[in-house]
Amino acid sequence: MKQRKMGSLDWPVSALGFGAMRLPGRRFNRLVPDQAKSSAIIRSGIDQGINYVDTAYVYPGSERAVGEALKDGYRERVHLVTKLPVFLTRKSEDFDKYLATSLERLQTHYLDAYLLLEQLADVYRRRMAVPCTACRYCMPCPYGVNIPQNFAIWNNVSMNDKGWQSGRIKRSYRKLARTPAKVNLEKPNGSAAVCTKCRACVPKCPQEIDIPNELVKCEAALR
Ligand code: SF4
Ligand code: SF4
Repeated sequence: MKQRKMGSLDWPVSALGFGAMRLPGRRFNRLVPDQAKSSAIIRSGIDQGINYVDTAYVYPGSERAVGEALKDGYRERVHLVTKLPVFLTRKSEDFDKYLATSLERLQTHYLDAYLLLEQLADVYRRRMAVPCTACRYCMPCPYGVNIPQNFAIWNNVSMNDKGWQSGRIKRSYRKLARTPAKVNLEKPNGSAAVCTKCRACVPKCPQEIDIPNELVKCEAALR
């Protein structure tokens, strides 16, 4: 694993870090991490050279799952970072409360860095049409729909206040294939219009987005 210097810090960090925002979920509640799978994936990453693990107070179940995974000597092998929910912090005591809770969940007495999770991200999320993170786990679609691209265009339009820019973004949607004959399965270029609602993509989405239904709304908004 390649290592790099991290910003102005002296840390030699692995080129790949482990972001614990979305850990493998339990079968019937995907927002609750499956501990055995989470520990396995985190430890496997560390065993292969990852030495930077990042979580946050507000990632559901993440800090506790990371704390469990970093038992048995794994904590000492990583730079561990979590984040203060600034948008929930009203008074100075809140800082101590959130920090103490994070340390307790992570089963450690120190953090290597403590980042500030700003409300901006929250505002950004509220303005998104669909909470797609472009992870691409839903791809490939057997019918050639480029799911993340459709959602990215829709989100760009919904977050854009400037009418002329929205027009330009919408034109990029119209360049996507609108009929099966124009779809390129090798380089998926399908718009929401070619979705057959087969639902093959739905179980793959960690955001639990009802992809075909959201694509119907996307097409209505952009066509
Ligand atoms: S539901 Fe639509 S987007 Fe999802 S796999 Fe089927 S055709 Fe593709
Ligand atoms: S799996 Fe979900 S979040 Fe990821 S790209 Fe597909 S729709 Fe977006």
